[in-house]
Amino acid sequence: MVAEDERALRRSPQPPDLLRLHEAVATLFATQGDWRRAYQHLRSALAIARDGSLRDALTSSFNRRYLDERLYGPFADRQVTRPPLAIALVDLDRFKRVNDTYGHLVGDRVLRRVADLLQDELPPDGFCARYGGEEFVLWLPGVDAGHAVRIVDAARRRVARHPWSELQPGLHVTISAGLAHEGPGALTPPERQLRSADSLLYAAKRAGRNKVAYQDAQSMRLITHSE
Ligand code: GH3
Ligand code: MG
Ligand code: MG
Repeated sequence: MVAEDERALRRSPQPPDLLRLHEAVATLFATQGDWRRAYQHLRSALAIARDGSLRDALTSSFNRRYLDERLYGPFADRQVTRPPLAIALVDLDRFKRVNDTYGHLVGDRVLRRVADLLQDELPPDGFCARYGGEEFVLWLPGVDAGHAVRIVDAARRRVARHPWSELQPGLHVTISAGLAHEGPGALTPPERQLRSADSLLYAAKRAGRNKVAYQDAQSMRLITHSE
């Protein structure tokens, strides 16, 4: 993906109405034979459509298609001089209970808010993508292992400390995360890193949830919750 397109994509998603407007204006210019302007508006419409195709409809975070492009696509990070990369797999704790207790509409609002909280304070080229259901991936390039742990644990704390009872009395939401970090020039493909993050997430769940699990010099560590 061209760097400029990539940066444009990181900006907030564009409303679909704007897509229709560009299409209509392009048609108008085309009927007048003004092909240059028609082309410009079609380009804008295409950019908006592409942006929409890579966003999750519920949370507006990136979607699985975007993540798969980064994991397997032609521009996947495979070069030997790869910068450090941390990948975290995040899962809401006991989320089925939230749906069962408060209903799916509240569940949807919780998912949206968690996505917002996860997207706060990401490194410059980092992103959050909905992996599926109540699972999200945090993609954190250019940070060392300690910094990655701090970012993911700060996200865990933001979720745990959020005033959820303002949404529904009695509601409380936490997340668990598995974090896999690779240093500069690592040869581990990102998809394998994601699998490691998945195993670590499982460890965080087993250890009682509301935790971040990460690999540290061959040993698995857990950050336990402090509030
Ligand atoms: P754990 O702590 O082990 O992850 O428990 P959990 O209840 O979060 O996990 P489980 O896999 O049993 O349940 C996940 C729930 O997430 C079930 C499913 O209905 C809900 N879910 C998945 N996608 C959505 C969605 O888009 N909206 C809502 N409201 N719920 C969703
Ligand atoms: Mg899950
Ligand atoms: Mg869950």
